[in-house]
Amino acid sequence: MAEETIFSKIIRREIPANIVYQDELVTAFRDISPQAPTHILIVPNLLIPTANDAVAGHEAALGRMITVAAKIAKDEGIAEDGYRLIMNCNKHGGQEVYHIHLHLVGGRPLGPMLT
Ligand code: IMP
Repeated sequence: MAEETIFSKIIRREIPANIVYQDELVTAFRDISPQAPTHILIVPNLLIPTANDAVAGHEAALGRMITVAAKIAKDEGIAEDGYRLIMNCNKHGGQEVYHIHLHLVGGRPLGPMLT
């Protein structure tokens, strides 16, 4: 059984977070350390530690993460100019929180993707 992270507490609203969207499958909240004017994390309510742990049974939640990202991008007014969706995996991917999450980053021109 994977260990919970702070994101599970945010999902259950046990600790404060700026939640912009929540449904039965996913929760989206503003990143505490934003890298751009819009920086929102979209997470499955169910704990999936990394992209390596994704299995067929997770497809509804993983698909919902994308459709919710598209909705939030429109709500934030960044859809037309564009934005970036990022999912980091493990050490080389720069993952810090082991509860899978999609970064929705935009509101300014972004630099080259790979560093
Ligand atoms: P990762 O490097 O892809 O795992 O990204 C983790 C992200 O979670 C970072 O951008 C952090 O700023 C963000 N983060 C960590 N703790 C919190 C929190 O309590 N609320 C909101 N965002 C957080």
